[in-house]
Amino acid sequence: MNNLQALVRPNIFRLKPYSSARDEFTGKAGIFLDANENPYGSLNRYPDPYQRELKAKLAAYKGVNPANIFIGNGSDEVIDLAFRIFCRPGQDKALSFSPSYGMYDVAADINDTELIKLPLRDDFQIDTAALSPYFNDECLKLIFICSPNNPTGNCMNAADIDYILQNFKGIVLIDEAYIDFSEEISWNQRILDYPNLIVSQTFSKAWGLAAARVGTAYMNADLLHFFNKVKAPYNVSQVNQEVAMDALDDLATYEQNRTAILQEKKRLKAALKALNFVRQIYPSDANFFLVEVNNANEIYQQLIERKIIIRNRHKLVNNCIRITIGKPEENQALIKALQGLQAEMMV
Ligand SMILES: *Cc1c(COP(=O)(O)O)cnc(C)c1O
Repeated sequence: MNNLQALVRPNIFRLKPYSSARDEFTGKAGIFLDANENPYGSLNRYPDPYQRELKAKLAAYKGVNPANIFIGNGSDEVIDLAFRIFCRPGQDKALSFSPSYGMYDVAADINDTELIKLPLRDDFQIDTAALSPYFNDECLKLIFICSPNNPTGNCMNAADIDYILQNFKGIVLIDEAYIDFSEEISWNQRILDYPNLIVSQTFSKAWGLAAARVGTAYMNADLLHFFNKVKAPYNVSQVNQEVAMDALDDLATYEQNRTAILQEKKRLKAALKALNFVRQIYPSDANFFLVEVNNANEIYQQLIERKIIIRNRHKLVNNCIRITIGKPEENQALIKALQGLQAEMMV
């Protein structure tokens, strides 16, 4: 990429990264007296800083080259690293759309970077006409596109994303945390077409490993170089790498759980539709629904009293709640509670 030097913070461009013992000797068999590890135990060795075994499995499954994969401590690490690599604190800017994922705001604040929030259109798609003037802002380094979007659930139009990738000279980070629930093709298939594209995904949602903290990002090798330089040397623990590999070795369980969730999604949608205080269920490519109701605050409170926790998104989208698809019995309990509220005319 010809303008990478103009995009990367100068101190990061120059940065000489920490060289760990596991960087300097990468062979397997031998006597390891190089890293001040304890010779006893089962988790006594530092893990592979580049997670090569996990990347090989993931690459085969995703149909990408391992050299184009970054593994993070959750995909939230990828978001934070993007700010740290590209945005000079107090000077550069990033842009996201609203409503969208709250971590972009927090990561921007932590990194002392202004985050421009451009409202999505009424159909929750990107207003490209409103966006394009920002392309001329030399301090705008980073655009976040969440697709499928949290909390609205929709994928962004591919033509709009193509337009942004072709016309914006900075970095475009497409957050695909929910892509595994969608029929859409991942943008990770396009990383070699677009040198400014980063696609993040996660093991936290469809793979059922939120507790493990394993996120992934796909990008061309020139960009990846900077992520490897800036990350903590051992950012993904051995335990985390192993559970992610176990998940990739057991695709049957992954498929079974994903199918169960998608089946429940249909059932939950039909049941929600039948409630008279439900005004609208937005189309969802994810494992949740954004639902417009008569009184979001009241429903949220009433459900809490019944020990059912949903997300009140009223402040982001008027009278909207976000409901995650649970197990059949959990969804049934929710439906029953909502039917009860309707019968008692509490909402
Ligand atoms: C849940 C979620 C993530 C996942 O973050 P992890 O750090 O990988 O757990 C990322 N982006 C969005 C939009 C999400 O909703």
